[in-house]
Amino acid sequence: MTSPYDVIVVGLGAMGSATAYHLAARGQRVLGIDQYKPPHAMGSSHGESRIIRQVYYEHPLYVPLVQRAHELWRKLEKDSNTPGLLTVTGGLMLGRESSGLIKGARRAAAEFSLPCEEIRHDQLQDRFPPFMPLSGMKALFDPAAGFLDPERCIAAHIGLAVQHGATIQVNERVLGWMATPGGGVKVRTTQGTYEAGRLVLTAGPWMHELLGAMGPTLNVERQTLVWFELPGDRAMWEPSRFPVFLCEFEDGQLVYGFPVSKRGWKVAVHYEGEPVPDVREMRRTIEPHDIARVRTAVARLFGWVADANVLDAAVCPYTDTLDLRFVIDVLPGMPQVLISSPCSGHGFKFASAIGELQAAMVIDGHCAFDLSPFRLDR
Ligand SMILES: Cc1cc2nc3c(=O)[nH]c(=O)nc-3n(C[C@H](O)[C@H](O)[C@H](O)COP(=O)(O)OP(=O)(O)OC[C@H]3O[C@@H](n4cnc5c(N)ncnc54)[C@H](O)[C@@H]3O)c2cc1C
Repeated sequence: MTSPYDVIVVGLGAMGSATAYHLAARGQRVLGIDQYKPPHAMGSSHGESRIIRQVYYEHPLYVPLVQRAHELWRKLEKDSNTPGLLTVTGGLMLGRESSGLIKGARRAAAEFSLPCEEIRHDQLQDRFPPFMPLSGMKALFDPAAGFLDPERCIAAHIGLAVQHGATIQVNERVLGWMATPGGGVKVRTTQGTYEAGRLVLTAGPWMHELLGAMGPTLNVERQTLVWFELPGDRAMWEPSRFPVFLCEFEDGQLVYGFPVSKRGWKVAVHYEGEPVPDVREMRRTIEPHDIARVRTAVARLFGWVADANVLDAAVCPYTDTLDLRFVIDVLPGMPQVLISSPCSGHGFKFASAIGELQAAMVIDGHCAFDLSPFRLDR
């Protein structure tokens, strides 16, 4: 009996929903499976906002990928008739000249001739009143930066995938998979067994359960997002006036934040999260010390946060490779199985482009990007 599916996508978070959509849009018969009902708050793609930046301090190799992602987010808004998935606010990067943030941003801007404005110390508060200039810090402004609405992005990708004929099965957990002698795959779930020619594994922080020793080393860290109450008038914190920001302090600690939303003013610490041996056991309750950690870090830049009311908080895991780069590769000896890591705490912005390139890898065997930096055996 022939299988009704060309490709099975396991995990329909940021990466899987985009991949299922691009595969279906290119005529593949897709089965997408998720253990929950995406968008949900159990994985790494919730919390109402994700920063997108073009002047990519982590490495210039990400610049073409984020540029393509930006185009595809706009296309997704149009094709799914969902405006407001991407809001451009510009992005402020604050740090010492010697910091990884400022050095890396200058390198990416130079290599790709990207607009990146240096804001003088005495101009910072005129431009962005809530920001106090910190002594010795540089301020760079990336005009293309902004934020995405992750839950609505995932819903839009899944909606379009369905429109293009994909079968989406939710609240169904994949228990295991195997390569079949004919060069395809068999996937076993809590509801049944399915066969297809190809398999894409985009299981986020649960990736290790499906890959075991075949996969990369992935370390999960528990992160807390906090929404604080603003001290006064919201007007200067609105998206039209307040940029997304990252600030690296002298000791390397990085904090980031967003314009205000209905839920409050969202901020967090980048990395330094509590290690989580198994995401299924991750503590989901918020304790006072979780809030205190974020409050102390953010108060280094915004002193009033030391006494601010907390309106909301959420827990969300980063899943890091050892070098914090992504993994996008087929498994050794199994060209029918493509895997994509959950992207080390900075992947959401790329999901639209990763979906497109993963569909190309599955269908064409190659894609428009050089994926060698993301190989398993790098
Ligand atoms: C607090 C926080 C802040 C972040 N900030 C940013 C940011 O500002 N900008 C940015 O670009 N990135 C950011 N990131 C990173 C980004 O959100 C992640 O890289 C991205 O969301 C990962 O998507 P994913 O699809 O790999 O994982 P997920 O979205 O977690 O999706 C994985 C899916 O697989 C499903 N699944 C897993 N196992 C199974 C199974 N056995 N059977 C069936 N289904 C299964 C899960 O239910 C889930 O739906 C942040 C991450 C966090 C946690």
